Amino acid sequence: MGRHIRGLAIGGLALGLLGGSAAPEAPVEAPVAEKPNFVVIFADDMGYGDLGAFGHPLFKTPNLDELAAEGQRWTQFYVAANVCTPSRAALLTGRYPIRSGMMGPRRVLFPDSGGGLPADEITIAEALAGAGYVSGAFGKWHLGHLPRYLPTHQGFSTYWGIPYSNDMDKVAGSPDYRAEAAADARWQANPAHFNVPIIHDETEIERPADQFTITRRYTEKAIEFIRAHEDQPFFVYLAHSMMHIPLFASKDFDGRNASLYADAIEEVDWSVGQIVATLKELGLEKRTLVVFTSDNGPWLVFDTHGGSAGLLRGGKGETWEGGQREPTVVWGPGIVSPGVVRGMGSTLDLLPTFCALAGVEPPSDRILDGHDLSAVIRGEGESPRQEMMYYHSGEIRAARVGPFKAHWVTQTEYRGTPPVRHDPPLLFNLEEDPSEKFDVAARHPEVIERIAERVAAHRKSVKPVPDQLAIRLEP
Ligand code: MG
Repeated sequence: MGRHIRGLAIGGLALGLLGGSAAPEAPVEAPVAEKPNFVVIFADDMGYGDLGAFGHPLFKTPNLDELAAEGQRWTQFYVAANVCTPSRAALLTGRYPIRSGMMGPRRVLFPDSGGGLPADEITIAEALAGAGYVSGAFGKWHLGHLPRYLPTHQGFSTYWGIPYSNDMDKVAGSPDYRAEAAADARWQANPAHFNVPIIHDETEIERPADQFTITRRYTEKAIEFIRAHEDQPFFVYLAHSMMHIPLFASKDFDGRNASLYADAIEEVDWSVGQIVATLKELGLEKRTLVVFTSDNGPWLVFDTHGGSAGLLRGGKGETWEGGQREPTVVWGPGIVSPGVVRGMGSTLDLLPTFCALAGVEPPSDRILDGHDLSAVIRGEGESPRQEMMYYHSGEIRAARVGPFKAHWVTQTEYRGTPPVRHDPPLLFNLEEDPSEKFDVAARHPEVIERIAERVAAHRKSVKPVPDQLAIRLEP
């Protein structure tokens, strides 16, 4: 609605200019409030149950808890993959990563990968650029580390962070960190064992990254960017490399809690508080939307070193709810109607939602899997999202339609156990049974049929593209 009114106003102004009238006093651009800033803070491997606002009894996340109380706490918000690379591709493009070649048997990109998010994919940064937005990316990228795949080639004016996971580039001869972790309840990895670089724009500036200070430094870079662009609509993508193992916390946070995980999450929460304090200091809080979520569930194989999915079953790498349902907070006092949102949402929805709030048309030359959630955010409607596909290694293993979720294949990840195939599929009613404990398949064969039809329709819409994760660099 607002978009149409603005379009007419701009059209009328343009006609006035053509008619040779005096220079208009009103700005040609829509008022700034109509182009809100967007800040996406994306944690790594944080579980559904890890925030105070999502029920954790011990972890201290006062800043996020406050944002959840003042804004919206989404209890059924999903990522579109249960591991890093495809989850990030989905967030930035609004498309299931199978469509961009970012979902395949190798699962994520590695330092020996030669692929990345294809240049012809349209990211949130690129979609917003047409409306005068400037975008900055800070933190973990993991959508291709070769220069042509870095954020500066995907619509971001600047980038500062690590190009892939913080446990990659393991130094030859360094100990097996999983064994180290298993032997020590307060295991602290040696960052020198992970030869991960820090990239600024397209230049390597540090190697190995000093991971002790990395949360703080991402935060400082993001704040610098916000200050530099306070007069222009901006999109900040702040993708923390925490809570991905190996965990690190700076001196200010190390040792505050019983576990290093609790220390590191307290620092991520501090970072959120710093970003919000900066927005308030600059008077931008009423025209900025902040979204906090995580790229996939907790890394359960690391036991207490990893996070918690709370009441949800499973974790990272799995198509159980714990792998893909994330603790999600949407804040923005000038935009967001406060409350708990129990409808479904997804990172797939951010691109169309931001486009709607910014008054720009989302890409129309390709299939988008996202829905516009702006009405839900404003408190003017229910979520339009009714479905979620759960991919693993390029195959659909489960699907949710309305309250019901069917699993054709399940697997406990990272423990060497093979996939288990289910015929008939397992069926759970997530609105009665969010923990996926009680299989109701025998009672609802018609529901399984309906979900299978939706899966078939989705599959039909997917065109084969090259698997970017399979591409290796020459040795
Ligand atoms: Mg992750």
